[in-house]
Amino acid sequence: MDDYHDPREYAPDDYDVHEDCVSTEDAVRYVFDNHWDLVEEAAGDAKGHEWLLKTKSSLEILSIVSQRDRVHMRGAIKKWLRKKQTDTEELTDAQLFSIAADVSAFLEQQIPSPLSPAVHSYGPEGSSMALQKEPTAGGCMGFSARGCTLDGDLSWAKDLLVLSRAFRDFLSATSDPDLQESFLRLQIREPIRIFNSYLLKTPAHHLVYWWQQDEKQLRFGRCPDPKLSDMSSYIANWIADYLSNHYSYVGLGVCAECGKFFVRERRDKTFCSKTCQNRVAYNRRKILESGALASVVVAPDDACDIQSGLWMHHPRFGIGRIEAVGSINSSIFAAPHHGSGTDVERVRYKSMLSRRVMLQVRFLHGVRALKYSDLFEGEKKEEQVPTFYEVKSEETLAELL
Ligand SMILES: [Zn+2]
Repeated sequence: MDDYHDPREYAPDDYDVHEDCVSTEDAVRYVFDNHWDLVEEAAGDAKGHEWLLKTKSSLEILSIVSQRDRVHMRGAIKKWLRKKQTDTEELTDAQLFSIAADVSAFLEQQIPSPLSPAVHSYGPEGSSMALQKEPTAGGCMGFSARGCTLDGDLSWAKDLLVLSRAFRDFLSATSDPDLQESFLRLQIREPIRIFNSYLLKTPAHHLVYWWQQDEKQLRFGRCPDPKLSDMSSYIANWIADYLSNHYSYVGLGVCAECGKFFVRERRDKTFCSKTCQNRVAYNRRKILESGALASVVVAPDDACDIQSGLWMHHPRFGIGRIEAVGSINSSIFAAPHHGSGTDVERVRYKSMLSRRVMLQVRFLHGVRALKYSDLFEGEKKEEQVPTFYEVKSEETLAELL
């Protein structure tokens, strides 16, 4: 904020002090008294983005894993279309190795050699948690990176894959522009369980302290144990830190095209870049022009008749195959109304069933559950609505996906 300026400095001598002028102090006091919520929001926002900048290597590791996995999942759908192999989320050893190789190359660049004395010299040694200076994100990551080697068991890469998928599922669920509590609870239950399982895998981080020379102050922080921590628990701690302290201020999303995690300004932003957005639009146009898919019209009241095996295009998630059709209240499908009652009653009943429909759809980035409002209510909010298709040529679709 600018300091108080005397307007006479810029005006002729006979200029009167404008009555509305207020000193910085008064302005700040006014804002504090009347708009404390805005102050809190601005501070939280600034703090959150600073935290993200400092710890961005954690998000980068998740992105590296997710992008590799995305390539694999696209391949799995192609294989399924060509019927060479059943659909699977399991990675081959070669695919797991490629994830491990990418992550360890990144770690080599980002952090000093995990075993070098430079890292350990300011780590928690013995029973003393006194550090020479504030632990950096790279240093803490170094304490957790010991096991990330390529010459043995690659289970650490598998753990990162599980975490990255869970984080992707969590962000996809919370990116819904029209959040509904019960549905959201259902969708985030599994990701949260996975985060917790990795948080509890290794002991909690040490409480450490150091003397902040420039401020002449004692400062405290948390730091992983170099002997016990591993990369997956370090990343799980980062996710927990994000969700507990910065989630309301820093929006993260996952790109539906390339699988990268990115900072998003709007909750429903789906792509990390214009390039990814254009690539999806281009591919979709090519697929539709090729005749590999034929359009199927589904009226909202007939949603309960949707068959699994149908394909769809969703404006946020892209092209996917409907794997299963169910109901939000699954017992409803068993109601013995079919064949009885008047036509009007049957139409009403069907419409009611349709409003509870839930589709399980395999998109290129993973499986998503979509409810009636995701399928048919986009128009109300002036959004694009999903469209449905039948596959006419598996081979052509596999080639173009
Ligand atoms: Zn992208």
